[in-house]
Amino acid sequence: MTAGRPDTLSPDARRAVPAMGRLLELEAARILARRHGQAALRRTLETLLAEIRASLRDGASPLCEPSIILQEAGARLETAACAGMRGVINATGVVIHTNLGRAPLAPEAVHEMVQAAGYVSIEMALDSGARGSRQDHLEPLIRELTAAESALVVNNCASAVLLALAAIGEGAPVIVSRGELVEIGGGFRVPEIIAQGGCRLVEVGATNRTHIRDYERALADNPDARIILRTHPSNFRMTGFTSRPDLAALARLARSRGVLLIEDLGGGALVDLSSYGLADEPTVQESLAAGVDLVLFSADKLLGGPQAGIAAGQTKLIELMERHPLARAMRLDKLSLAALKATLELYRPPSDPLRAIPALRMLTEPEAVVRARAERLLTLLQAGPEPRGVQLDLVATQSFAGGGAMPMHPLPGAALRLSSRTLSGSTLARRLRLGEPSVVGRIVRDDVLLELRTVNEQELGALAVSIQQATAFSD
Ligand SMILES: *Cc1c(COP(=O)(O)O)cnc(C)c1O
Repeated sequence: MTAGRPDTLSPDARRAVPAMGRLLELEAARILARRHGQAALRRTLETLLAEIRASLRDGASPLCEPSIILQEAGARLETAACAGMRGVINATGVVIHTNLGRAPLAPEAVHEMVQAAGYVSIEMALDSGARGSRQDHLEPLIRELTAAESALVVNNCASAVLLALAAIGEGAPVIVSRGELVEIGGGFRVPEIIAQGGCRLVEVGATNRTHIRDYERALADNPDARIILRTHPSNFRMTGFTSRPDLAALARLARSRGVLLIEDLGGGALVDLSSYGLADEPTVQESLAAGVDLVLFSADKLLGGPQAGIAAGQTKLIELMERHPLARAMRLDKLSLAALKATLELYRPPSDPLRAIPALRMLTEPEAVVRARAERLLTLLQAGPEPRGVQLDLVATQSFAGGGAMPMHPLPGAALRLSSRTLSGSTLARRLRLGEPSVVGRIVRDDVLLELRTVNEQELGALAVSIQQATAFSD
């Protein structure tokens, strides 16, 4: 950088470098400013001009043509726009989209998160001034909602599984069905997590079918086994000639042989969504009622909260987890804690979680409501300038829950389809992603589909503006 160094440019060289004001007046700069904002353009140009002056001082002869400078600025801005994390409109139709941050938070959760950004009494009992536990803010609520004896909250479900195995397994054999040795994504593989937890994996059954007698034999062969681990297959499904034991039957077997049944449930639904066409997704309460000793689940999937992992079950198991040294390495931060508490409060009557929690609202919204929103978007667009070279129409589609939940159960959806004669679907989709606001859709047969199930009413106006910008120069 040039800071502090005397400007030793010759008057000639100084004159060769175009002035900021002159660059900003050019048409190419105006286009860049509309796309990336005046402030970002100015910052990029300042950096570029400083680099040019520095290389002139070093005796080099950089290109000082305004058009070339603006071209380079445009390339840098484009790269920066792709690289940074920005708010986006999720028009993919996938409600729990891991690449887009999973569940969007309810306004109540956002509010509490902002409050917690300052000093908070996270580990202090205000009446006595004595030290408290951060778990005290969440545990009673989780017990109330799930009927679990105790609960513990950590960073995510992956940590909850690892902590449970390390603290409870203590190196003993862990019995898992071959049909459940899945990779969930992001490198989270059941066999590897068991190894990381310091336990020994004992596989039972076959890939497609595992029976109670397989577990019985494994328990007889491994008298030191401590845990039967049941895992939710997440976004993997086997169909056809498959079976696995009923959860309650497995719980009875575990109890009769003095071993623990631990379930990695993943999704963590607290409400039964089967009447909304989302069958197949067990709730935490059902698992506990079936006799599972410890259930582990995510807070940012079907629960609709921030990233966190929850362990709910027997007190003695929760205590083992709490006391394990890994617990400290996995503890939940105050912002997520505040957001999770607020989200869990929305499950308590008189609040209706299906309305109050955005992910649940999107998952359960009737098709007609989604379609009506798609129609309003089309009306907004028809009232604006005519899109050039892009045809807009509404199509009936299928949306998905995402987050490993219910991959076989599409939700009826409605999408705006953008078909261009001149632009490929991927070019148009990229323009939308880099727009202001950024819009993420999906590409089907070289058209872009913008799904309305995952777009809320307040986003419609901004979405229309982004679509207009992306399609303004497409012929
Ligand atoms: C998603 C999932 C996990 C990981 O949960 P995170 O909260 O993302 O760590 C673990 N197990 C199952 C079955 C899952 O579906």
